[in-house]
Amino acid sequence: RYRFYSEEANRLLKENIYLQGQLRKAIKADQFELVFQPQVDSETHVLKGVEALLRWNHPERGYIPPAHFIPLAEDAGLITAIGEWIFKQVCKQAAEWRDQFGVDITVSTNLSSLQLNSPNLIASMKESIAESGVNPESVVIEITESIAMADIENNLLILKQITDLGLALAIDDFGTGYSSLSYIKHMPVSEVKIDKIFVDGIPSDRGDVAIIDAIITMAKELDFRLVAEGIENQTQADYLKEKGCDVLQGFYFYKPISKNAVEEVLVTL
Ligand code: C2E
Ligand code: MG
Ligand code: MG
Ligand code: MG
Repeated sequence: RYRFYSEEANRLLKENIYLQGQLRKAIKADQFELVFQPQVDSETHVLKGVEALLRWNHPERGYIPPAHFIPLAEDAGLITAIGEWIFKQVCKQAAEWRDQFGVDITVSTNLSSLQLNSPNLIASMKESIAESGVNPESVVIEITESIAMADIENNLLILKQITDLGLALAIDDFGTGYSSLSYIKHMPVSEVKIDKIFVDGIPSDRGDVAIIDAIITMAKELDFRLVAEGIENQTQADYLKEKGCDVLQGFYFYKPISKNAVEEVLVTL
């Protein structure tokens, strides 16, 4: 039994070291791609924004999910370079869509904790904003609740610098940590994203529904823009609309889609 586990652990370790070597070349080799998951108005189901999500298409291993390779990139010290590439693409894309379609949609992007602490973060963001000519207010930076709550003094300073650039801040996966919205109210955050694990419980899990109701009530009281993610059916969409959640994101509306597929929607707006 021990041997089985240690062989498996050894195989995994080797695979991860291999992937980290591959990650080093992935930007130059043009293996990264952003896909975009639309977010819709809860009342009208009209597209309001998109969340940019990173994809890595490896020539031999195929598609590797971000939940797997982002921790590897962090571990290998590569997340700063990758994150700078992502942010640059996001700004360019948002500016291009505004110019081409005359639409005022938001483009959200995720920031991991190591990115938040990269010394070059603010300077490189500033450069990408200036270069692209994007309206920074249309770009939303998502950080998870647990990141927002760790090393609060230092992170607060960085979050403030991010919003001073004109960017919007969202708390991702809200409800999974142990923080309260009244605490988050002290941060320069404008949007809260309710995590899928609670949405999954609508309508039958009384605990999940109670948590959702409490988050929505309090978020509205505190004037946060409220996004729910992971909506997979109409019951969930209807429930969240009734409760007053502003924006919905999930496979029931759209899966993450290509730039071209987003544009097919944008022409209809
Ligand atoms: P997240 O930011 O919470 O992103 C939402 C994830 O939930 C996405 O998975 C999305 O495809 C998935 N999702 C959305 N709606 C549904 C639904 O209705 N049902 C189900 N089953 N899933 C749904 P994805 O793209 O695999 O991303 C996973 C996580 O990887 C993200 O969670 C985020 O933490 C991280 N990630 C993705 N792209 C980036 C990036 O560019 N930078 C950083 N730092 N992290 C990223
Ligand atoms: Mg996110
Ligand atoms: Mg999330
Ligand atoms: Mg998540």
